[in-house]
Amino acid sequence: MSSPTNDLMKSLIKRNPHEPEFLQAVQEVLESLEPLMERHPEFIDAGILVRLVEPERQIIFRVPWLDDRGEVKVNRGFRVEFSSALGPYKGGLRFHPSVNLSIIKFLGFEQIFKNSLTGLPIGGGKGGSDFDPKGKSDEEIMRFCQSFMTELYRHIGADTDVPAGDIGVGGREIGYLFGQYKRIVNRFEGVLTGKGLSWGGSLGRIEATGFGLVYFLEEMLKTAGETLAGKRVVVSGSGNVAIYAAQKVKELGGQVIAMSDSNGYIVDEAGIDLDTIKLLKEVQRKRCKEYLSLHKHAKYYDGCSHIWNVPCDIALPCATQNEIDEQAAKTLVANGCIAVAEGANMPSTPQAVKVFLENQVLFGPGKAANAGGVAVSALEMSQNSMRYSWSFEEVDAKLRDIMVNIHKKAYQAAHDYGYTGNLVVGANISGFLKVAEAMYSQGIV
Ligand code: NDP
Repeated sequence: MSSPTNDLMKSLIKRNPHEPEFLQAVQEVLESLEPLMERHPEFIDAGILVRLVEPERQIIFRVPWLDDRGEVKVNRGFRVEFSSALGPYKGGLRFHPSVNLSIIKFLGFEQIFKNSLTGLPIGGGKGGSDFDPKGKSDEEIMRFCQSFMTELYRHIGADTDVPAGDIGVGGREIGYLFGQYKRIVNRFEGVLTGKGLSWGGSLGRIEATGFGLVYFLEEMLKTAGETLAGKRVVVSGSGNVAIYAAQKVKELGGQVIAMSDSNGYIVDEAGIDLDTIKLLKEVQRKRCKEYLSLHKHAKYYDGCSHIWNVPCDIALPCATQNEIDEQAAKTLVANGCIAVAEGANMPSTPQAVKVFLENQVLFGPGKAANAGGVAVSALEMSQNSMRYSWSFEEVDAKLRDIMVNIHKKAYQAAHDYGYTGNLVVGANISGFLKVAEAMYSQGIV
């Protein structure tokens, strides 16, 4: 790295020594922005990078709640409002025991560039809690969400900060959070996205991240003269992103042969039956393993990380950060994988990304490839402002256009800066430029 970015990285490590995920995300972006900084020294002079790596606001709060036995429990809540250069802070809430400030900051930092890439007027933020929804009753989830919102409400608003879902936060949780917000402020406003269809949600939001990922993948494949038809696809996870990515792969002629949850993975050479996965995961909230009770010919393996040993043409990591390490990447390459598109945020370690790029695997980084979810969230905000709703087909067509456009911009930026085909560099440069120009115009704030 050049000396200004090196110095910046050193000072970040010093100031945030216990935040490895955040530092990993920043390092990747700083490295790929080097060619841009050479052409635009004015961004260095205006302190754009130094300011961008420091969140505008970080809120950490206590979330006390009562479990079903009447015992007091306490979790930690977070909202990191990273950048409002392009619009209100926008980004999901994650409820998972692994959540800490480092994870929320890495997600919030990535969100700035992702949101910029969509071309829509949204800033970047992220939030969540170390609360684990697994094994909790509906009543416990409701009490937790109400307590969480009792603090969060004072920091958010339709024109200030508009959270959405992420791992562990789906339609049920958004409902409880919205109900409590409305009760406190006495206003029915578009303060959250991912709402139910009868109370301000957008058609197509549930499908958006997964469908968008596959629209982006199609564009990646086109650059190599390939299509999805007949391809063997491995999708990790079996949550919101994974399910709808798998559905779109199937619609476009691919065959999804493996999916997972945090306990293990299933392989069904006849093609994963998505109705069963939806029933298990969306309705019954059960484990992947149960798939075998309905599909005797399928196989189940304990431990989710070995899913990448399943030979495939295309890998879609849709579970969590750092789920593909260097070894898994080498295995994918050795098995003939031609494309990897990230549905999850930062699911490939930096070493894994290096392996993909060195072996000419088409690689779609999460901040570009999974931007469909936040794009349709922004469309939900527009519909809420207009008090109007678009049809599924209208939303889906807009989503497709947005994903095609993101690919085009990232591909073009990579080419312009001498990195043809490197969508990591392209997405970072293209996402950053718009934010940097806005920050430059808005002065030192
Ligand atoms: P869900 O909670 O719906 O599903 C998450 C899936 O990943 C589950 O199958 C879960 O298994 C698995 N998983 C979670 N944590 C781990 C872990 N530590 N190890 C192994 N498996 C794990 O979340 P989403 O589908 O919404 O999100 C998945 C990824 O996509 C995340 O990285 C998220 O940030 C990203 N993303 C989501 C968007 C959205 O619109 N929802 C938008 C853009 C990105 P289990 O059930 O066993 O926990």
